Amino acid sequence: MNPLLGRAQTAFFALLAGGLLGGWVGNMVRWPIIGTIAGALCGAGAAFAFDSLRAARLLEWLRGSQESAAPRDTGFWGEMGYRIERALRLRDVRIAREHARLQQFLLGIDASPNGVLLLDERGQIEWCNARAADHFGLDPVRDRAQRVTNLIRAPTFVHYLQGGLFDAPIEFASGAGRPMLSVHVQPYGEGMKLVLSQDITERERTDAMRRDFVANVSHEIRTPLTVLAGFVDTLASVPLSTAEQPRVLSLMREQTDRIQSLVDDLLTLAQLEGSPRPEPDRWITLDASLARVVADARLLSADRHRISVDAVPGSEVAGVETELVSAMANLLGNAVRYTPDEGRIDVRWHVRETDGCGVFEVRDSGIGIAREHLPRLTERFYRVDGSRSRQTGGTGLGLAIVKHVAQRHGGELEMESEPGKGSRFRLVLPAARVRMAPRTASTHA
Ligand code: ADP
Repeated sequence: MNPLLGRAQTAFFALLAGGLLGGWVGNMVRWPIIGTIAGALCGAGAAFAFDSLRAARLLEWLRGSQESAAPRDTGFWGEMGYRIERALRLRDVRIAREHARLQQFLLGIDASPNGVLLLDERGQIEWCNARAADHFGLDPVRDRAQRVTNLIRAPTFVHYLQGGLFDAPIEFASGAGRPMLSVHVQPYGEGMKLVLSQDITERERTDAMRRDFVANVSHEIRTPLTVLAGFVDTLASVPLSTAEQPRVLSLMREQTDRIQSLVDDLLTLAQLEGSPRPEPDRWITLDASLARVVADARLLSADRHRISVDAVPGSEVAGVETELVSAMANLLGNAVRYTPDEGRIDVRWHVRETDGCGVFEVRDSGIGIAREHLPRLTERFYRVDGSRSRQTGGTGLGLAIVKHVAQRHGGELEMESEPGKGSRFRLVLPAARVRMAPRTASTHA
């Protein structure tokens, strides 16, 4: 029924009932008309009071938090209460759903590898994700509503933000010890800005390393090339006497050997970087490789050193033979090259009792290395004494190769040294990659 019609009906019945009752009472005291009017008025007043009471109850509920149910009434106010309550509950559900969606959205932005910072039209921080907080050293809660330029004061950033030209990103560090950032501002809405940041420290470091590497390679190649070019020029203008020929040719051969070694080592490094990790179940026997490496070292030493070998026979290693041979040869070659004549070189291969790791150790009584150089020895082209390294045919890449090989096999390169006393280098391979050949193992058992 139409609610207004219902209310009019209630009022009519109250009026009628009051009027009839008043008329009956009035009739008894002989004032029927006055009684009817007074009764009708009382009926209407009672209906109005009852109606007001129900309205007041609903209003009181509306003024509150509306957490309890609306007053359960019949008729107009009952339906009004029910409808309002339903609308409120629907709105609450919709708000909760929107809130959950917003949270999901913010979680998504929070998980982004890039920093996201939202600025309002006055340049104040509206919101930032954890990554942006980390990039700029902000506190996502405390710094909300702060002017961004009060917190990020790097002049490059302040000028960029105030300049209003956001075609390209800028690169800067937001403070001492902070990461190098690439920052791009994207205006949106009415004067709002989205600040996207990316940590490019690693990229910068790799770029610098690549630049250094190219410069080093060019430098290493240019020197022998210049010498060779000099010889070629001389040969072109002055014919060599038969007596001079062997000396000049041997000098030229030295330079070409130098370039050759450099290119070989560079190729080895490139190969190490480009190939997948050695498989953990491709077993190779070490005996032959060890024998070959020691034989090469003896050849290089030409009996100038006392070389001793102590190797447990029958070991197997899960790895790439060429890589392991190259690493062992580099360590042994260094021992020969940096140990004066008559020095001692001890080569040892054993399985460490404490942890089962396979250890290839080269100990020499050579010139040794000062402590401060040790951490940098595996850097490419790092040499303690450049001229000695080059004189003995070094490229400055040997230990970089050894470290790479060790890491690719899950192992490490350990070194100890004392100037004037000698050095000890250990190529340590993890226990999981070392075992005794089945035949030898059963013989031992
Ligand atoms: P290089 O080709 O110059 O020998 P490496 O990478 O093999 O390059 O070695 C880096 C530097 O470490 C060498 O230039 C040398 O100064 C030092 N070095 C390496 N092995 C030894 C060693 N056994 N004794 C003394 N110094 C060594």
